[in-house]
Amino acid sequence: MSPSRRDFLKIVVAGSVASGCPIDAALFVRPDDEDFRATKLEGEHFSTCHQLRDGHAFPKPAATRKVEVAIVGGGMAGLSAAYFLRSKDFLLLEKEEHFGGNAYAEEFAGQAYSTAAAYDFRGSHSDRLAREIGLNLLPIDMPDPTIDNGVCTPDTWRSGLSQLPYPKAVVDSFKKFASDVMKFDPRKDIDELDAKPFTEITNNYAPEIAKWWDAYGLSNWGAVTEDTSAYIGVADAQYLIKGEDSMRVILPGGLGCISKQLVQVMQPKYGERLLGGATVVAVVPDANEVRVTYVHQEKLATVSAKVAVICAPKFITSRIVLGLPNDQKQAMRRMRYAPVPMVNMIFDKRIYKQGYDNWCPGNSFTDFIVADWTIRNQPGYHPKYEILTFYTTLRESQREMLLENEDCKEFAGKCLTQFQKLLPEFRVDPVEIQVYRRGHAMMMAVPGQYTKNRMIASRPMERIFFANSDSGGPESLTTEAVRISHAAAEWAELTLAGKPGAADLAHKALTEVAF
Ligand SMILES: Cc1cc2nc3c(=O)[nH]c(=O)nc-3n(C[C@H](O)[C@H](O)[C@H](O)COP(=O)(O)OP(=O)(O)OC[C@H]3O[C@@H](n4cnc5c(N)ncnc54)[C@H](O)[C@@H]3O)c2cc1C
Repeated sequence: MSPSRRDFLKIVVAGSVASGCPIDAALFVRPDDEDFRATKLEGEHFSTCHQLRDGHAFPKPAATRKVEVAIVGGGMAGLSAAYFLRSKDFLLLEKEEHFGGNAYAEEFAGQAYSTAAAYDFRGSHSDRLAREIGLNLLPIDMPDPTIDNGVCTPDTWRSGLSQLPYPKAVVDSFKKFASDVMKFDPRKDIDELDAKPFTEITNNYAPEIAKWWDAYGLSNWGAVTEDTSAYIGVADAQYLIKGEDSMRVILPGGLGCISKQLVQVMQPKYGERLLGGATVVAVVPDANEVRVTYVHQEKLATVSAKVAVICAPKFITSRIVLGLPNDQKQAMRRMRYAPVPMVNMIFDKRIYKQGYDNWCPGNSFTDFIVADWTIRNQPGYHPKYEILTFYTTLRESQREMLLENEDCKEFAGKCLTQFQKLLPEFRVDPVEIQVYRRGHAMMMAVPGQYTKNRMIASRPMERIFFANSDSGGPESLTTEAVRISHAAAEWAELTLAGKPGAADLAHKALTEVAF
């Protein structure tokens, strides 16, 4: 895209590169921290973060407030933990001014769109929570098309298999892969499959298959095929081939609709306990309490809690929780997170009708979804705009691109150029493009993470439970954020009451296989 064309289009860049990991990893750099030193990102909240990066040891003032439960992080996990623990004296601390984390919706002229998490599943933990708080997520009711070589193939992995726009040998290879992958028993062979990369399976087929999964994997679990655990690859292939994607449900705004509703439901009674703009810098457990120190309105404060539920991602957690056993700290730091600059394109007319989530292998974006898909056919619904949400997970080595607004704009322009080449009806300019960037948005489902590393990284301490969705899995899922935070709430209640069983309950929650 030429600079003049880019200037002509309105491209708005939002989001802290550090959000989703609000204190950027690079800001916690320590001499032994080669991985993190390689990438110097800066968040929006410079005063706190620069001091941390420079090795400033924050004073930890004496506690001025006592609560039963401190919750660190106000994404889906933190918000649902607060909801489940609302009968307790809790305080939730969230670094950003808004809540929701990766499940956060924005709006354009009153029309909601997602800045990350897209859809849920009927009957999941998060869907059940949504119903309990008054939201009815609507069915997507449409299998995913693939758009490649100028052709849109509906229902990629079932009826579409024969129609894929590839040479016959490649189409036959897709069919063979689909048939062979159903012969695995992922639950039975979970340890063996999780220990190896998905390419050990896909390499037996035409390269187009690994390329398709590169797009699907980056979008769903932050990793290309060679970095993906074969367990998650096989399990997700079976899910698509069996048509279990027919269970998907959502409203405009993606899963941000649930986090927004959770805040609205809790705000009137518990608003004072939901503290935004509060960055936790230290969590110090001792025999009788956990002291949580945070920066709020440029001042340090400490709250003393009987227990703490940490809902921040592990690479942040490993840097703020003191007294972690070394193996656990290292396991947290081994976890990898992919950068995601989400691109929303706003058109002043409908340009696409064929599918909700559309796979586009080989482009800068992996797939795009239609923001209002589940409500677009409702009587009386006449939106002014069509919003298409592009999933654009980057490789870890590309993270620095997010630092510069101009680079983000150029990337958005590249997405538009590639989109317009996909199908003739896409040769339309949007009225605006909005980019929402996150530096470490998505936990990567790499080999060994689910069955091995996670079990060490997520082990509860005496008074601390680790409840971010990255304690669950096998991929980053909102339902897992809710399931784990529900376990955290039960664990907190038992611990507060001095009753036995908290450790067993936590162990059960971690060992329960999600799918
Ligand atoms: C691009 C993308 C697409 C996705 N699509 C889907 C999907 O379609 N379906 C699905 O189910 N899931 C999806 N997910 C995953 C889903 O978004 C997450 O699993 C879920 O939202 C995670 O919630 P969480 O609360 O565990 O973590 P987060 O959302 O990461 O929330 C953590 C919170 O902690 C806060 N925090 C961090 N550090 C501190 C600190 N020091 N002090 C205070 N607060 C702090 C952060 O600001 C953040 O709000 C997607 C994720 C991404 C990135």
